[in-house]
This record gives sequence, C-alpha cells and structure tokens, in this order.
Amino acid sequence: MKILVSNCLLGCNCRYKGDNCKNEKVLALAKDNELIGVCPEEEGGLPTPRDPSEIVNGRVFSRLGKDVTAEYVKGAKIALKMAQANKVNLVIFKAKSPSCGCGTIYDGTFTGNKIQGNGIATDLLLKNGFKVITEDDL
Ligand code: SF4
Repeated sequence: MKILVSNCLLGCNCRYKGDNCKNEKVLALAKDNELIGVCPEEEGGLPTPRDPSEIVNGRVFSRLGKDVTAEYVKGAKIALKMAQANKVNLVIFKAKSPSCGCGTIYDGTFTGNKIQGNGIATDLLLKNGFKVITEDDL
C-alpha cells in the first residue's frame, strides 16, 4: 500500500531544531509498502532550523510570537494534494507536532503540557477522509 509519512520519521533533518526523529518501525514498512515523505512545515515555506510553534485557538504561533498560520495552512494543503495525487491508503505522521500530531498536541504555552487535538496538516487530511496515525500507534 501507499503511505504518506512525515519526513522527519524517515530520517530527514527537517525538524525545527534541524534534526530528525528517524523511526525504525516506520522505515521497516518500506519493505512491503511505498512510503511517500512530506514535511508540511518546510512545504509551507518555513526555514529549517526554525522557531518552534504551537497552536492556540486554531492559529499557529512561534515561540517568539509570530503568527505562522498561513505557512502551516499552505503546507497542509500541499500534504493533502500529495495524499490525493498518490491515492495513499494511510498517513503516518509525527506525534504531537503542530502540523503532524494526531489526537494529542502541545497546549500553546510552550511548557510541554499536552491537550487533545490535531496538527494543522493532520486535521485537513482527516477532514478529507484519510486515515491518519502516528508512529506511536505502530
Ligand atoms: Fe516532521 Fe511534520 Fe514537523 Fe516536518 S512538520 S518536521 S514532517 S513533524
């Protein structure tokens, strides 16, 4: 099957700190599946490394207080287009990210507290009928 995957889980250094979160369970899926990588934040035009961001009332703000909602929405739309163009069967995104998180995200206070919610890209993919899980579900 075809799976859309967060690029950082595949080992790309696209996280805000300029590192990755390579996940061996995700990589092992490449044996029997076609993995298609995407980083919604980079696709939205944000630089790497970048100031970390969190969601507050549906908008995304960087730790320095910059409203980066437009970049997050642009990246989410590109991720959706990739999912649709490739007719992916599943999406495996990075847990807790303000773009890729699914079910749980940080609460917007940059204190490490978590709340129920989805990242901006995950939300758009779910609304368009795609199944989204995180590496924690594997
Ligand atoms: Fe990884 Fe998604 Fe963040 Fe990109 S936007 S670094 S793919 S969690």
